[in-house]
Amino acid sequence: MRSIDEQGYHFEEWLTPAQIAKDVQQVADQISADYKDKEPLFVIVLNGAFVFAADLIRGLDKDIRCEETFIRVSSYYGMQTTGQLQFIVPLQQVVENRDVIIVEDIVDTGLTIHQLKAHLRGLGASSVRVTTMLFKPNKLEYDDAKPDYIGREVTDEFVIGCGLDFDGFRRNLDAIYKVKE
Ligand code: 5GP
Repeated sequence: MRSIDEQGYHFEEWLTPAQIAKDVQQVADQISADYKDKEPLFVIVLNGAFVFAADLIRGLDKDIRCEETFIRVSSYYGMQTTGQLQFIVPLQQVVENRDVIIVEDIVDTGLTIHQLKAHLRGLGASSVRVTTMLFKPNKLEYDDAKPDYIGREVTDEFVIGCGLDFDGFRRNLDAIYKVKE
């Protein structure tokens, strides 16, 4: 079993590149079926989701006409309950009357998705759905943030690789690693 040490923490391989590829393809197939008569706009949440997004869009049926755009946000955790979304890289594309699919690396409490969905609806998107490579169902605090297309569910441990970072590093790992106590 492969392992990685980072800043005093020990991580062990949890998903192999082949398992991840299978998960991503299964999501791509579902999206291809549901959007076959639409022109979805993927809103890719930076920084982490770019790896998943790159594989996902190439896994779509070739007849799907889609566009991609990026957003980078930061949520204020542990402050006011009305936590504001801060746009570090704001949306550069018109979403009005578009079928939007938000692409995330991992959904944890769901705060980011909860706020992002409200933002995109406010901008007039016709529909807003969410896809994520990983989902931590036990941590979810916002009902409306439950993703529509999920690669795989994960328990509460911290994971890295395939876009998921530890302090900005390790996004490049081709497998997903779980921290070991
Ligand atoms: P949420 O708004 O759902 O609470 O947080 C989602 C964000 O938290 C993810 O986009 C990711 O940046 C971060 N996050 C949550 N769990 C993990 C994890 O296990 N590993 C890494 N690397 N980031 C995580």
